Amino acid sequence: MNLFESFQQGFQLHKNKVALRVPEQERLVSFGELDGLSARMAHQLVGLGVEPGDRVAVQVDKSVEALALYLAVLRAGAIYLPLNTAYMPEELAYFVSNAEPRVVVTKQAQRGIFAGIQQDSGVVFSCVTLESDRSGSLMQELGRYSDQFETVARSGDDIAAILYTSGTTGRPKGAMISHDNLASNARTLSDIWGWKGNDVLLHALPIFHVHGLFVACNISFMNATEMVFLSKFDAQHALSELPSCTVMMGVPTFYTRLLGESDFTSELCVNMRLFISGSAPLLEETFEAFEARTGHRILERYGMTETGMNTSNPLRGARLPGTVGFPLPGTDVRVMSESGELLSAGEVGSLQVKGPNVFQGYWRMPEKTAADFTEDGYFITGDLGKIDAEGYVAIVGREKDLIISGGYNIYPKEVELVLNEIPGVVETAVFAYKHADFGEGVAVAVVAEQGQAPSEEQIVSYCRDRLAAYKVPRRIIYLAELPRNTMGKVQKNLLRDEYGQ
Ligand code: ATP
Ligand code: MG
Repeated sequence: MNLFESFQQGFQLHKNKVALRVPEQERLVSFGELDGLSARMAHQLVGLGVEPGDRVAVQVDKSVEALALYLAVLRAGAIYLPLNTAYMPEELAYFVSNAEPRVVVTKQAQRGIFAGIQQDSGVVFSCVTLESDRSGSLMQELGRYSDQFETVARSGDDIAAILYTSGTTGRPKGAMISHDNLASNARTLSDIWGWKGNDVLLHALPIFHVHGLFVACNISFMNATEMVFLSKFDAQHALSELPSCTVMMGVPTFYTRLLGESDFTSELCVNMRLFISGSAPLLEETFEAFEARTGHRILERYGMTETGMNTSNPLRGARLPGTVGFPLPGTDVRVMSESGELLSAGEVGSLQVKGPNVFQGYWRMPEKTAADFTEDGYFITGDLGKIDAEGYVAIVGREKDLIISGGYNIYPKEVELVLNEIPGVVETAVFAYKHADFGEGVAVAVVAEQGQAPSEEQIVSYCRDRLAAYKVPRRIIYLAELPRNTMGKVQKNLLRDEYGQ
């Protein structure tokens, strides 16, 4: 079934209900309007020659129209391909030649770049523009089209979207995500997070990534619930909207920034029932400070582009900091040793998942796809983790970030947890540097409070008392902040390139 069909009934039933409230534009958009707008856009896409299965690449700022365009692509039976607005021309050239879109939707300012790419790559596509103020060539003709559009039938296994992974460990790969992958994940999450018809979601995430697009928007669409739609996360702005919301989804930096505002108080959260975090590890410190300030225990969950969400802390029951909770109903998560044996509770190994949420493979990379699945059909996430006796999953780090020093495995997170306890330390990132004897050694990038940085000797001696000698960092770099991508993920590959040689 086409994913849009699982939204449509709700849209029609709740025609006059607010779908999106856009404070920056003092604008309210009803489900009826969103339905009509996406129908018109679907007609326009078909007019541009888009056929089922064609890719529609979209690199635009977050806006109501951009979201309607996502729905329009689904309705037309095409494949939605959102692109991070931060991508540079060279990166865009790679995505275009890899994905061969039929249509590219971009900002006027980027049009020249795509024209150049078209010329160099020989990929033939129509280029239309869309700005966040509702202008652009996509909008000019819309009035000509009907606000009714018959959704193109798709089977559950057909591809609804290709999302490129964040590129934390290397070049982004295009994950092919089916209609059923998305529908089942949205349904399961609605269920376990107890979604209600009167929920209002504070939406300040980008919409080119799984978290902001699929988790946040698909759940809201499936339940026909309101989103307060902010163009980006700004702590003061979020504070002023919080009192009218019931749920917030954020990356960990949203939570640390909220805590950085002295006027962020529990009174602002009176209507809030749930704060959800994901995309990167939430520090236990943040979890605790947030609970102390607001009384809310942040619900952390774990997912990835290729799989949507895999695990979640419970809505009712203990939300444990430092864990990502239990496997979702219907999703199997297991921990395997390097030699392919199932590990027992508490043992660290390769996290693998199987379930209706797991993607259909990497676009045009059959070998990579084959290499990332086990013979019995589990997807190898590339994350290292463990499952405790009660079933809580904890992520220890990425396989690629594992440090092997003199034959010993060192999990960066274990060292980071110790380092983060040192007075004056704000946060740390542990990574490998090339070591002549041991192959790799332990390096750390330390971000300290101004004027409070512990000395190298203090760091080493603190670690010596608490960690085996081979885990103690030998190279210490002080940074004003850690390199992070737009989703708040620490880019250890950049640290290795810069300080790991
Ligand atoms: P690439 O695969 O291109 O290197 P990426 O893995 O960062 O990039 P995403 O699919 O956006 O791209 O991110 C998924 C990853 O994010 C997971 O594999 C995991 O490492 C991390 N992640 C997501 N949620 C959490 C969480 N709650 N705690 C720890 N890590 C998380
Ligand atoms: Mg990944």
